[in-house]
Amino acid sequence: PLVLGIETSCDETGIGIVRGRTLLSNTIASSMDEHSRYGGVVPEVAARAHLEALQPSIEAALAEAGSALDLDGPLALTDLDAIAVTSGPGLAGALMVGVGAAKALAVSLDKPLYAVNHLVGHIAADILDAEAGPLEYPTVALLVSGGHTSLLLVRDLTTDVELLGETMDDAAGEAFDKVARILGLPYPGGPEIDRAAVGADPTAIRFPRGLSRASDMEKHRYDFSFSGLKTAVARWIEQQPLRQAQEPDVEWTVPVGEVAASFREAVVDVLVTKALDACARHDVPRLLLGGGVIANRRLREVAIERAAAAGVTVRIPPLSLCTDNGAMIAALASELIMSGRRPSTLAFGADSTLPVTEIQIAEADAG
Ligand code: ATP
Ligand code: MG
Ligand code: FE
Repeated sequence: PLVLGIETSCDETGIGIVRGRTLLSNTIASSMDEHSRYGGVVPEVAARAHLEALQPSIEAALAEAGSALDLDGPLALTDLDAIAVTSGPGLAGALMVGVGAAKALAVSLDKPLYAVNHLVGHIAADILDAEAGPLEYPTVALLVSGGHTSLLLVRDLTTDVELLGETMDDAAGEAFDKVARILGLPYPGGPEIDRAAVGADPTAIRFPRGLSRASDMEKHRYDFSFSGLKTAVARWIEQQPLRQAQEPDVEWTVPVGEVAASFREAVVDVLVTKALDACARHDVPRLLLGGGVIANRRLREVAIERAAAAGVTVRIPPLSLCTDNGAMIAALASELIMSGRRPSTLAFGADSTLPVTEIQIAEADAG
């Protein structure tokens, strides 16, 4: 099926078009720059930016799909088989803009509408990675971004996704952003910390690994916590000048590279350790990575290295499919259609806390 997907759960307005499992277009407009002076995404600003970006993004996606299909001009909306949209989880106001637009399109074009789960969409992104071959089940999936840090067991993308664990406080990307701020680096912090850490010793400072003690294993084996780590970094920086005061001849500045490298190592270590633990305990030799934090060079490196040692195959889709995008939403709807699922009724709204087990929302009754 030819499906147009709309994604507006956070700060990316993503419009994607797929045909079956083939990617035809993936346009992404981000309001990231508008949030940078606040050090994080401002919901109202994001919602307004979505409203402005939607129409031009849809047009750009249709044009891109037109050239992918070798048409003379843009793909026509009337040629689509279905519309797909993220219903949640995400920022309520931002989601509402996408949901409203999708309903308007579906009603005016008289096309079926599929309301889907954003997190499961991140997994569906992998299907569009033509070079990786088909997604095999079961697979463990680690989704790490500015808004979520989740460990999932995927037995079937369209019917069976289980939440193994998630962050109890900050998301991994959020931790990067907050620590970057402490270090005086700009937003978004992930790429800045990656850059600052180049060539620095990651073992210089031993920062805590959240929820990794033996006593955490019963209740929080697959859960994450990054706010203690963030506090530990702030404490460490505060305390250094006091220690240095005992050596007054030495002028002291924050060793940004060492702090960045050591902090990044703590995050990466916990993420990879828990993901591979889930693979081992569920006897699943496959690990899928997704979310914007996958851009982190050290995370990729450590994941690939340790997975190989554990006999686990790692899949990492291209970054344009890892960050929030509409193509993954279209891909998930396409899978639902191909597995015979009925469209959603119009009786759904934005659900900011939609659980990952709800893959499709408001599927119509048979008959
Ligand atoms: P959502 O949580 O809904 O997926 P988001 O916009 O918060 O949305 P993404 O766009 O997927 O998340 O990713 C952005 C996050 O990824 C930011 O927190 C950013 O700091 C982080 N990030 C980007 N590049 C890197 C990197 N090289 N290392 C670590 N984190 C990174
Ligand atoms: Mg984003
Ligand atoms: Fe996301």
